[in-house]
Amino acid sequence: MSDDILIVGASQAGVQLAASLRDLGHTAPITLVGAERHLPYQRPPLSKGFLTGAASAESLALRTRDYYHEQQIDLVLGERVTGIDVDGGRATTDAGREIRASRVALATGSRPRRLVVPGSELTGVLYLRDLDDAAAVCAALHTATSVVIIGGGYIGLEAASVAAASGVRTTLVEAAGRLIERVAAPVLSSFFLHLHQGRGVDVRLSRFVTHMDGHDGAVTTVHLDNGEAVAADLVLIGIGVTPRTELAEAMGLQVQGGIVVDRQGRTSDSRVVAAGDCTLLPHPLQPDVMVRLESVQNAVEQAKVAAAALLGRDDVYDTVPWFWSDQGEVKLQIAGISAGYDAVVVRGDPGTRKFSVLYYRQGRLIAADSVNAPADYLAVRRSLTARATMEPGDVADPAVPLKSLLPT
Ligand SMILES: Cc1cc2nc3c(=O)[nH]c(=O)nc-3n(C[C@H](O)[C@H](O)[C@H](O)COP(=O)(O)OP(=O)(O)OC[C@H]3O[C@@H](n4cnc5c(N)ncnc54)[C@H](O)[C@@H]3O)c2cc1C
Repeated sequence: MSDDILIVGASQAGVQLAASLRDLGHTAPITLVGAERHLPYQRPPLSKGFLTGAASAESLALRTRDYYHEQQIDLVLGERVTGIDVDGGRATTDAGREIRASRVALATGSRPRRLVVPGSELTGVLYLRDLDDAAAVCAALHTATSVVIIGGGYIGLEAASVAAASGVRTTLVEAAGRLIERVAAPVLSSFFLHLHQGRGVDVRLSRFVTHMDGHDGAVTTVHLDNGEAVAADLVLIGIGVTPRTELAEAMGLQVQGGIVVDRQGRTSDSRVVAAGDCTLLPHPLQPDVMVRLESVQNAVEQAKVAAAALLGRDDVYDTVPWFWSDQGEVKLQIAGISAGYDAVVVRGDPGTRKFSVLYYRQGRLIAADSVNAPADYLAVRRSLTARATMEPGDVADPAVPLKSLLPT
């Protein structure tokens, strides 16, 4: 068997896999194939600095072109891997290229969930997943007079921040009864509701889009379920993502709404690992629970252990998950995973725009959302890393630094 490794997907997880393989001393050929034509780049700024114009496309690159050359990583861009035969040791791309692959890493990421309503195919109805999408949104924002954002998750809120700050009439439509309902406590949802309303965003909760109308093929109106018609020359849809699992399914790997991996990033075939948004993985701190995580930190950490697994090592992904969201001058930092919480403690006053929400399950700290409170965030991350907890009764007073509650 040859030692050739194929990595499918050249983004946060795929690039880290390649880098980690070299760092760990793998000297045999590595081919990294990405369907996008751009040098692999970071996605988070696409809804932040890139949209405001503060960050250029070039500044988003994860590594320089020279890096891949120096590390002898064969970077193939603009081609999609369409078939993988691990037994036969080869894969093919949509350009007809044949690649040797005795071991494989899948880092295929996720794609935006589509909104399928009459009119959703009109010009001016956009998504925000990749650099081309972001460039199209940027261009449309320059000429738009009225933007409708569908989806009140982090990407929708970040885009709403940028749109409202640029002076465009901005409406945000969310089907749930509150913003970021899936991932945050009601106190954080109401904080963001008031923040965005205060910036002039017209937020419509518990509303869904029935259809869209247009003129000459371009969107003009978004219709809501209460009969209301909202004018729009740009509609941005941010209603979540679905993992790209089709290659894994074709390979016969176990897939359950994500490529199922173990704590080492191994799939149901020991010659194949997977990392990043495309996976369903054991919760890093609570391995009996399977989760999907969509974050840079997860893509990077999972890629590191998956690279080690490909080389026969047994490294375990057990680091504390973290995430962030920038919305204008508000910086949210998240440590841990709050899903399954049964109690929260609010530390500080949301009215001051500096506070934290600490999440508990059965009396143990499991996560925190910190708004403009980096010291709280860091202390909770350290506490979770130490597998310690902080008593709910001790954390509410913002005058007591959380770090003073850490184990010594
Ligand atoms: C607008 C936006 C803002 C975000 N903000 C944040 C943030 O603030 N903080 C944070 O932690 N995370 C954020 N994220 C999420 C984060 O970017 C993702 O979790 C991360 O990019 C996942 O990396 P990945 O490598 O697993 O997948 P992806 O980044 O989705 O990359 C997968 C790549 O694989 C390619 N691919 C798929 N199938 C094939 C194939 N068959 N052949 C070849 N190539 C293939 C795709 O084209 C894609 O380029 C944001 C995401 C977006 C879109």
